[in-house]
Amino acid sequence: MSNNSSDFSRRKFLKAGAAAVAAAPVAALVGGGTAFAAERLTKDDPQAKAMKYVHDAANSDQAGDGENCANCALYTGDRSADWGGCSIFGGREVNTKGWCTAWASAG
Ligand code: SF4
Repeated sequence: MSNNSSDFSRRKFLKAGAAAVAAAPVAALVGGGTAFAAERLTKDDPQAKAMKYVHDAANSDQAGDGENCANCALYTGDRSADWGGCSIFGGREVNTKGWCTAWASAG
């Protein structure tokens, strides 16, 4: 019958449409992950310089023994991660081994 080929095309079209719908949320997630990836604070940043931020507390002659971003009260990220948020540097991430003059004990 002549309907067979149009049925086949219709099924193909519906399958392709379903695949596109299924893929859309994945694309949104992947795109969203990239869009929201936090920027890392650089030591050349004017605010970082003003706060004497360093990526490694061992490179600061002002950091007290054991003081670093991972044990700072202002750190907002995962303390076991390498990088995470800091409430004074906006959306930018700091190194958990880092330090700045605003350090305050989280303990
Ligand atoms: S305020 Fe604390 S967490 Fe933020 S950069 Fe300074 S020492 Fe690190």
